Amino acid sequence: MPYGFPTKRVVLAAIKHESHTFNRFPTTLDLFRRQGYHLGREVASAYRDTGLEMAGFLAAAARFGWWVQTPISASATSGGRVTAEAMANFLAVLGDGLRAAMPLDGVLLALHGAMAAEEDDDADGTILAMVRGIVGDAVPIAVTFDLHANVSDRTAGLADVIVSYRTNPHTDHYPTAVRAAELLHRAMTGEVRPRTVVARAATLVAFDRGRTHTGHGPMMDALADARRLERMDPGVWCVSINSGFSHADVWQAGPSVTVTGDAAPAQLQAIADGIMVAGFHRRAEESVRLATVADAVAAMGAGRPGAPVVVADYTDAPGGGAYGDATVLLRAMIAAGLQASAFGAIWDPATAAQAVAAGLGAHIAVKLGGWIDPEFSDSPIAAMAEVICLSDGDYVHEGPYAPGTVGSFGASAILRIGGVDVIVSTENKNILDQQQFKIFGIEPSRCASIGLKCMHGFRAAFEPVAARVISCDAGGLTTYDYRRLPFRHLRRPIWPLDNVE
Ligand SMILES: [Zn+2]
Repeated sequence: MPYGFPTKRVVLAAIKHESHTFNRFPTTLDLFRRQGYHLGREVASAYRDTGLEMAGFLAAAARFGWWVQTPISASATSGGRVTAEAMANFLAVLGDGLRAAMPLDGVLLALHGAMAAEEDDDADGTILAMVRGIVGDAVPIAVTFDLHANVSDRTAGLADVIVSYRTNPHTDHYPTAVRAAELLHRAMTGEVRPRTVVARAATLVAFDRGRTHTGHGPMMDALADARRLERMDPGVWCVSINSGFSHADVWQAGPSVTVTGDAAPAQLQAIADGIMVAGFHRRAEESVRLATVADAVAAMGAGRPGAPVVVADYTDAPGGGAYGDATVLLRAMIAAGLQASAFGAIWDPATAAQAVAAGLGAHIAVKLGGWIDPEFSDSPIAAMAEVICLSDGDYVHEGPYAPGTVGSFGASAILRIGGVDVIVSTENKNILDQQQFKIFGIEPSRCASIGLKCMHGFRAAFEPVAARVISCDAGGLTTYDYRRLPFRHLRRPIWPLDNVE
């Protein structure tokens, strides 16, 4: 910029997807359009009042007096690889937005960090390469990541600043964004340019899978080390612990540590390596063990209205890219004769449409769920069901997980099977918020037991009303048993698939 021109010109954008490369359904541009796709001025109106990254970017931009453009915000629930068409669209829209906004002082991007596209195992790196190609080497680029990012060497080399979430369930999208904006501002106004280095190890799993809700364990210790190292040296701007996303058949899958700063590169690398090595040695330590379905459902029997036992199927979690149609846990709940119980959700567009056609109060014979892959989804539940509620499925998060976030199950129904009220959806959605039950007239706190599909994110909203929370292994696509997944592109050897000692 010309000397004396005080306003910094910054492009803000978000392109977020966690790609479960073993999921057979590609994530299409149409799916992004249905779930979260905004261009230009729409971006601010869609996200200003949320707890998401773009809200943090916009608030920081106002505070620093930046001139900003927001060419694109795109996000979709975790699923299969992003289609080449969607990827080409993101690159074209963001590229055009950057070129139109030049000259720029900085770029601030919210990425997930574990996006893979058709024919592209490192889609986040491809986005950064395009951005760098347009803005040139002199313009700093700052990036926020989910802590489930799989950070490639290319990505670390292209981003000046990387800042990852520090909570799991993720409740810090906004402060993460503000932190990245502050570091970008420092990079734009300071005399020295930061750089970012990355370390990883021969493991798919470390840092307690990123868990922070237990308040102890390897992730909490690594985060404490990160904060201590940032305080010790002003040349260390940000240390990020990424537990990684292990259901991705890409070379860089798994945990990593990134360090951003203006200290000597060797010093930054030594910090990243030190934390990563410590994480590697503790890779088998986990603060949560998954229960069997039998044990989990037995525990549900002790729940009572007002003090529900909440059981999450960790392994059919749509938020981790699973199909959301698996029937193992629901079948066991029905077989156990649970009463005053709720289940969210079974992704089954055909049965949702059947319920809509039959109408409220109808009794219908259903073949519910289990329609995608017998190996990970089990089989359909054949039962008589009563249509208790019909809905457009639209909800707004009340929080604490990303309050203000808008989502939708699409045309959806509550089917009562025995004593269990089941959400049957047209869109495959993770359960993260009580509103996802409340829109159907189900008050989670009044249930005796609740079954749901999610890895960690539900805990923020459901632990406060639950007598007990249990995560179980029902054999779905987000399994811990990586030998069930046919890895081909992943770097080897790697634990726990190979002997790495
Ligand atoms: Zn995540």
